[in-house]
Amino acid sequence: MSESAFQSVDVAVIGAGSVGIAVAYYLATEEGVGSVALIDPLDPMSLTSAQSGENYRNWWPHPVMTAFTDHSITLMEDLDQRSGGRLNMTRGGYALVTRRRNPQDLIADLYRGYAQSDAPIRIHDHISSRYAPPCRAPWQDAPGGVDVLLDAAIIRKAFPSYAQDVATVLHIRRAGSISAQQMGQLMLERLRAQGGRLIRARVQAIARDARYRLDLEGPHGHSTLAADRVVNAAGPYLQDVGRMLGVDLPVSSVFQQKIAFEDREAAIPRDMPFTIDLDGQALYWEDEDRALLASDPATRHLTEPMPGGIHCRPDGARDGKWIKLGWAYNQTASDPHAPDPIDAQFPDTVLRGASRLHRGLMAYIGRLPRGVHHYGGYYTMTEENWPLIGPLDGQGAFVAGALSGYGSMGACAAGALCARWVTGRPLPDFAAPLSLARRTDGALMAELTRAAKGSL
Ligand SMILES: Cc1cc2nc3c(=O)[nH]c(=O)nc-3n(C[C@H](O)[C@H](O)[C@H](O)COP(=O)(O)OP(=O)(O)OC[C@H]3O[C@@H](n4cnc5c(N)ncnc54)[C@H](O)[C@@H]3O)c2cc1C
Repeated sequence: MSESAFQSVDVAVIGAGSVGIAVAYYLATEEGVGSVALIDPLDPMSLTSAQSGENYRNWWPHPVMTAFTDHSITLMEDLDQRSGGRLNMTRGGYALVTRRRNPQDLIADLYRGYAQSDAPIRIHDHISSRYAPPCRAPWQDAPGGVDVLLDAAIIRKAFPSYAQDVATVLHIRRAGSISAQQMGQLMLERLRAQGGRLIRARVQAIARDARYRLDLEGPHGHSTLAADRVVNAAGPYLQDVGRMLGVDLPVSSVFQQKIAFEDREAAIPRDMPFTIDLDGQALYWEDEDRALLASDPATRHLTEPMPGGIHCRPDGARDGKWIKLGWAYNQTASDPHAPDPIDAQFPDTVLRGASRLHRGLMAYIGRLPRGVHHYGGYYTMTEENWPLIGPLDGQGAFVAGALSGYGSMGACAAGALCARWVTGRPLPDFAAPLSLARRTDGALMAELTRAAKGSL
């Protein structure tokens, strides 16, 4: 179909990543918006959304974000159930691991984060305590809530591959993995079935008179699209589109990396949940290597104390061999228009860091398999690391973005919420704090900025 057929729509959604697709999907399927266009010059789901580790969890230290992701997980479950399992949803949980005994601050965060949910928090501090170990049961059969393991014997039995100095495991149960690509595909199919359209073009400028006029550059040249309302879901280019609408968005983009490789040494058990080592550490180096790294300003940080947050999980089927490792230690924003700042040192760094907890991974230091996949993408985020979903210019423009490292798991709730803002239907309690309006709440902003500085 030619682009001239699409010259006027009710809502134009800019960006066909996880978030934009979900906004368009909920507008068309739940909010009854007749004419929705999704605009992107790239293949859907091919930018940041293609780099996702595709993990989800309802663990957050603040009840607003817990409610937001809980809602998103419920929507994903619904999609998975109604599509006969297209999302490949697993529920092994998230295991948060520390060498600290009885860490009251982490436990207090659990009670705070889950304060407004009905998730039970079960403390296991002696061997006879009834703890259901991780398994690959269908998500429908998995337990909810959180298990706090404070007993060394329970930990050794349930997680024999962890290093022996682990003293506490917080096992978040409403957590696991999905196929975000399948979810995007499913939503696109349903969007098209409702008459929604995908336009291959870059939005270059936006003017406003009685309606929005989007200046598009596509494979067949220039065109203009008129829209009553516009949604900015441009991922790392959120600020560019914001500027086209006359709004300076408070976001930056920070590049984060992962590696995936075939675990031929079977270092990681296939039933192991997505595991995060919460503790900071100093990486081990031979003296000569340490001196060399310390002498170069670009690598000096590798010889200094590193933050916690290394994560590891088995990837794919139970009888598969691939594993994924990540460590979002970079905190320096960069320009998403420049070439990706991929760090050639990263595979070695993450491996060294991860082998502190997963000792079997030491076998790969200095000899990673040749087929190792090293990739990355941008966490587009606000300073407080909460998303921006809601009105943008007070007229008919909206934003759905800044979903940082949680946009696959948060896409459904972000999409459903933004669609509600667009149509003006009743909003959930978490709507206002996730919109730009929160920035006028000084006390909330101070609290969030403080918390974000100490988070993963
Ligand atoms: C390494 C890594 C691991 C991650 N792991 C996880 C995880 O385990 N779980 C999780 O939930 N999340 C994870 N995330 C986060 C998640 O991937 C992102 O939050 C999510 O993909 C963001 O989706 P998006 O739609 O906002 O952005 P994108 O996927 O980047 O989509 C934005 C789209 O907008 C388009 N666009 C931009 N400007 C214009 C324009 N002017 N005109 C038209 N189109 C435009 C772009 O072409 C692009 O296709 C991870 C991210 C990274 C980088």
